[in-house]
Formats: sequence, C-alpha cells, structure tokens
Amino acid sequence: MYDFDVVVLGSGPGGQKAAIATAKLGKRAAVVERRDMVGGVCINTGTIPSKTLREAVLYLTGLNQREMYGQSYRVKEDITVADLLARTQHVIGREIEVIRSQLARNHVTLLPGLGRFLDQHTIEVIDGTGREATVTADKIVIATGTLPARPSTVEFDEKTIIDSDGILHLDRVPASMIVVGAGVIGIEYASMFAALGTKVTVVESRERMLDFCDGEVVEALKYHLRDLSVTFRFRETVASVQQHPRGAIAVLESGKKIPAEVLMYSAGRQGMTASLGLDKAGLAADRRGRLKVDENFRTAVDNIYAVGDVIGFPALAATSMEQGRLAAHHACGEPLHALSTLQPIGIYTIPEISFIGKTEDELTAERIPFEVGVSRYRELARGQIIGDSYGVLKLLVSPDDHSLLGVHVFGTGATELVHIGQAVMGCGGTVDYLVDAVFNYPTLAESYKVAALDAMNKIRQIERLSDE
Ligand SMILES: Cc1cc2nc3c(=O)[nH]c(=O)nc-3n(C[C@H](O)[C@H](O)[C@H](O)COP(=O)(O)OP(=O)(O)OC[C@H]3O[C@@H](n4cnc5c(N)ncnc54)[C@H](O)[C@@H]3O)c2cc1C
Repeated sequence: MYDFDVVVLGSGPGGQKAAIATAKLGKRAAVVERRDMVGGVCINTGTIPSKTLREAVLYLTGLNQREMYGQSYRVKEDITVADLLARTQHVIGREIEVIRSQLARNHVTLLPGLGRFLDQHTIEVIDGTGREATVTADKIVIATGTLPARPSTVEFDEKTIIDSDGILHLDRVPASMIVVGAGVIGIEYASMFAALGTKVTVVESRERMLDFCDGEVVEALKYHLRDLSVTFRFRETVASVQQHPRGAIAVLESGKKIPAEVLMYSAGRQGMTASLGLDKAGLAADRRGRLKVDENFRTAVDNIYAVGDVIGFPALAATSMEQGRLAAHHACGEPLHALSTLQPIGIYTIPEISFIGKTEDELTAERIPFEVGVSRYRELARGQIIGDSYGVLKLLVSPDDHSLLGVHVFGTGATELVHIGQAVMGCGGTVDYLVDAVFNYPTLAESYKVAALDAMNKIRQIERLSDE
C-alpha cells in the first residue's frame, strides 16, 4: 500500500490541476513544493507577476489614454519600482492564498520541500532546513517546470546583467535596457519597459520575431514598439557582455557595441530536472532538461507522468493546467478526451496579440484556400470610445465550407476576444453564424460580425464573377 495514489512534484498550474483532479476522483493526492514557491513559476516569477506589472505600467503611464488626452497624459510622473511592485506583490499574495485554499479544501497534502526520486514509486522530500522525509505513491506526476537558461559565457550579477526572474528585483526603472532574445517573454518585457520610457534595444539572432504569429500582426507590433523608441537588431548575435559599474555593454558579433543600464537575457528556458534523480526512476531528460511523454502525458516509465513546461511546447499556463488534469485522469484510470488541438496563444505585449487556428502563412504552405475578413477597431464605436485606433481582428475563412480556419487579434482585449472565435471553431460553427449573430453595441466583440461580413462579401464577389 502506497502513502498516496498520486504524488505531484511542483505546484505550478500543471501540478495543481493534476493534484486537484486526483482528489476530485476520490484518490489520495500530495504535492511537493518549496515553501516559498507555492503556485510555481506561474504565480511567483512568471505569468502573474509579469501580467500584473503590465497592468500597473498601463495604468500608471496612462499610455492607453493618450489618444484621448494627449501625449503628455500620465497618471504618475515619476514611476518607481515600488509603485510597480506594490501591485505585483498584492496579486501574488492573493493568488497564493487561493491556491493554498483550493488544495486544502480538496484535501491535497502539501509536502514542503524539493522532491527527488529514490525509485519509481518513492520520493525523498528535502525541505529548506535539511530535513528529509520519504513518501511513496502509485503514480507520480512531474510538474517541475523550467528556469531561465543562462549562457555560461555571461556573468549574471542580478543587478545589471539579469534574466527574466531578475526583473522583479530591479531597484529602479532603468533609463536604458538591452533585451537579448525576441521570444515572447523578451518582447513582453521590452514593451513594458518601453512604455515606462526606458530606451530598449532588442537583439535577436534570427531574421524575424514571433514567427508563429500572423505576419501583419507582428509588423504592427514592431511599428508600435518602434514608436515607443524600441530599436530592433535582427540577425545580430551577442558575442560578449562587458560589465561596468553603471551598466553593461553588449558587444555584437558584427562589432557593434550597445550600452545600457540593464541587460536582460531572455534566451529560452531549461527544464527543472537536473536534481530530480531521474536515473533512479529509470528516466532521462534531453539536453534542455525536458522529458518526453506520450499522448496521455506518460513518460517512458509506466507509472510516471510529466506535464507543463517540463515537457516543452507550448509552455503556457493554460495548457499546463489541462495537461495536469488529463494526466491525473489517465493515472486514475478515468476515461478522458485527448487534449484539444485548438489551443489559443496569448502574448501580452503592448498592444497585446492573440490567435487561434492557422496563420495565413501556414494555410498558404498547406495549399488550403482561404479568404480574409478584417475589422479595424477604429471603425467600431467601442474602438473610438476607448481610444484604440490600431486594433484589428482578422478571420481566415474557408471559401468552400465557410468554416473558420484562424482568428487573429491585435489590440485591446485581444486575449479575451479570441475566445469567441475559439468557441465557434470548437463547436464546428461557420462564419455564417457570425454574420447572422447580433452582438452587443458598442463592443469590441462586434468586430467578429464586421470581419465576418467582410469575408463573406469577398467570397460572394468571387462567386458572382465566376457565375457571369
Ligand atoms: C516571465 C514569464 C511570463 C509568462 N507569461 C505567461 C502568460 O502570460 N501566459 C501563459 O499562459 N504562460 C506564461 N508563462 C509561462 C507559464 O508561467 C508556464 O507555462 C507555467 O507556469 C508552467 O506551469 P508548470 O505546471 O510547468 O509549473 P511552473 O509554474 O513552471 O512551476 C514549477 C514548480 O515546480 C517546482 N519544482 C521544481 N523542482 C521541484 C522538485 N524537485 N520538487 C518539487 N517541486 C519542484 C518549482 O519550485 C516550481 O514552483 C510565462 C512564463 C514566464 C517565465
């Protein structure tokens, strides 16, 4: 008899949902987590702090109100790190309480410390005080997430040369910043600091950024960021970083030197598996510390599952939650559906981006015909009211059966709006539904109807010409 039916390593979104789903199925569940990391990277250093910081930046800078009240509009003249972090700490504290309470009311045991395998059913838990405990479980779910990858050639001093975790420990808003890596995290922070007035330079060795997104949307984002004084250096690689008393200098392979008060590396993330004792359980991680799983999130060892960022793409909180729930159901022998292939992507840049389904480039490469329906916020009454003249929603529609192939949104509320499209797509609806539906007025949701009409008018035009 094992101590628990399921023991979960890590209390991020994947771990939490795996443990709670186990408990809901009437099984005994425990979560192993460091005392100061309940909620995982998501609550403590990643999603929630960064999204709260963004909200604080938008509020205090008054950026979104400037179309209405002029370019000099600000809620607070000198924004300090304390102003920004006050909101962040408040939200983190509340969220940790919510998670602790959810675990407690579902009778999930929280085992404080870090876990490592002694064998495929036994975990040793070491807490911060050096105490050790051993627990056994029928099934084990690894949800240990990731940490920022650090190039060995760069000396991080946590003040001038930092990674994304270091953002939350800055003592002032820097006047200038270099962001190395134009991935989602790098660009989100680049846009927040640019909005605060920091002169940001983004260095990216690839030719493009966010190339999984709609090309026009990424162009629009770059235009907005340049307008906030962001400089992009694409096809450039940082050769070395020089540390100086009042900042850092990035020396690029091309010979350029870029000075800044702070340099943030955002060069991918590494799976947190190095100290898990995987070999004791008969497992091994890849070179980026990630674990391989099957469609049920089961690793190569039958009773061990892995979910969340530790298994790689898409490495998003919402996906991790669903993976956790599905893994628990499989581990408990409960029937389950496969993870939906229709997964939304949300990028909280300023302005924000969200999409679901295919991009134009993907459809073109796959030779799937499509028509584009566009709605611009500036032509919506709600867009005028909120002062968003740049927002845009694009529907990619099949001219054959009118199904929605993709929805791409850029601008205010993009990450919320995308879910209307997701619901239509997920339920097998067509653009005809959106043409006929009546939306509240004035709303941004109305953009669906406008874009649907646009797509249908284009499709009709082709049909008319072909009929003549
Ligand atoms: C700056 C930033 C911004 C982000 N923004 C977004 C966003 O806007 N939207 C979004 O969807 N996603 C975002 N993400 C990604 C999101 O945070 C992750 O996808 C999500 O947190 C992954 O969840 P997880 O379950 O893998 O666990 P994580 O949240 O990664 O947590 C893993 C936990 O495991 C614990 N752990 C590690 N080793 C052990 C061990 N041996 N024993 C016990 N516990 C252990 C760690 O202490 C940690 O608490 C962001 C990430 C970052 C870094």
